[in-house]
Order: sequence, then structure tokens, then C-alpha cells
Amino acid sequence: TQKTPLLELRDLQVAYGGIKAVQGINLHVNEGELVCLIGANGAGKSTTLRAITGLVPVAGGSIWYDGKQTTNTPSYQLVRKRLVMVPEGRGIFGQLTIEENLAMGAYVRNDHAQIKQDLERVFESFPRLAERRHQSAGTLSGGEQQMVAMGRAMLARPHLLLLDEPSMGLAPLMVEKVFEVVRNIAAEGVTILLIEQNARLALEHADRGYVMESGHISLEGPGKDLLHDPKVRAAYLGED
Ligand code: ATP
Repeated sequence: TQKTPLLELRDLQVAYGGIKAVQGINLHVNEGELVCLIGANGAGKSTTLRAITGLVPVAGGSIWYDGKQTTNTPSYQLVRKRLVMVPEGRGIFGQLTIEENLAMGAYVRNDHAQIKQDLERVFESFPRLAERRHQSAGTLSGGEQQMVAMGRAMLARPHLLLLDEPSMGLAPLMVEKVFEVVRNIAAEGVTILLIEQNARLALEHADRGYVMESGHISLEGPGKDLLHDPKVRAAYLGED
């Protein structure tokens, strides 16, 4: 018997005016899993994450997190329940220092001694950020800003972490680094749902994956299986 998933989408539908961006998808993430959602531009991946975090209204179906229905729950309430998203574009405050950006992740907490410890742990994981902790975040490279965004999310002590295209716009070496960080976060016991355009890397790292096409889930399975699926290879890995 399977435990209740940490996150479950049941027949989820989202529309922007007349555009049905998500057309009834079923997806689940079990406690401790790293699951990826891949698909072409405009397939509805970001919209799905935005619906989970209460940033766009759900038009049909339901969302379940930690055993409770959370459909249309606003994101500030979800953060308190330890459901945290790192948005596409990272959402860094360029004028604030790296340390200030990181500390913002802990705004829902008041265990100050513990927050300080967590902050130091983030700096241990990201020595480049430690060296620059008092520098304004706007001066960082894209890859470093992604590290700040993930470090900030970790300061909210996430139970479920949603990552929207963490490798977007980064140089290949930096992309590898970002995936290493994602792996380390997963190894700490954080459950992760990851959206990626880099299908190969995402599937290599994920326990399971879903493929999204024009608002539907077209394929799902263990990451390694999808990596070897002929349809995935042709459409997303540039192979025939
Ligand atoms: P990308 O990788 O480009 O972000 P995606 O798979 O995340 O792609 P979505 O961003 O979820 O796809 O977009 C799904 C569909 O919804 C697209 O047709 C897109 O044009 C449309 N869409 C997204 N955001 C809005 C919006 N705010 N208003 C209207 N239509 C939108």
C-alpha cells in the first residue's frame, strides 16, 4: 500500500481567459521524491506550478498537499506550510545584499538562533556567496543569483520545493552546478518538483518524470525510463 503523496494534482485545469493552459492533469509527488515536469515552451509547466502555489486561479480539479486540499490557497499561507517555490527569473532583490536576500526566505520563522545557523549552512554550501555576503545581489552572475534564490528557499525550511527552470539562461558548467545543488537539497530530505527545458539533465537526476504537451500529460514514468523512451528522445533530446 502506497502512502498518501505529499502533493497530488487531480484533473487540474487552469485557463487564462479563453486559453486553456492546463487541461486536466493528474500528477503526484511522493514524500522524498525528486520529480521533474518537462515539455516544450508553452506546454503549461509554469502555469501548473503557479496554480500549485496559488498564483493563478484553478478552473477545475483539485490540489492536495500534505493530506489536505489546498486548491486556491494563497502562496503566503503555503509558505507557512513549508511549500516553497523558486520562481522562473529567480526573484532576486538586486539592491539588497546577498545576506539580506537570503534572510528574506526566513520571514515566516521566528526561531532566530536556528535561522542564523541555517544561514551559515547556506554559506557553507555556497562559498562564492559567503565571500560576497555584503555585496548587492544585482552584481552577481545569473548562476550565482540562482544559488541565492535556492538558498533563500532553503531558509524557509521547505518540505516541498518547487523549482521553475533553475538552469534557464545559464552557461553549461553552471547548469551542472545547479543540478548538483538540486541533488544536495534532495539528499537532505526535501521533496522536489522541478520544471525544466533541459530534459536530459532533468530526467537523469529525477526519480520520476512527467512530459507535458499542450496542457496535457502525455507520458510519465521513472526518469531513466523516459530518458530511453523513443518519443522522448525524438522530441526532447534531439535524437532519432
Ligand atoms: P515556458 O517554458 O515558456 O514558460 P510553459 O510550459 O511553462 O512554457 P506556460 O508558461 O505555463 O508554459 O504557458 C502555457 C500557455 O498559457 C501558453 O499558451 C501561454 O501563452 C499561456 N499563458 C501563460 N501565461 C499567461 C498569461 N499570464 N496570460 C495569458 N496567457 C498565458
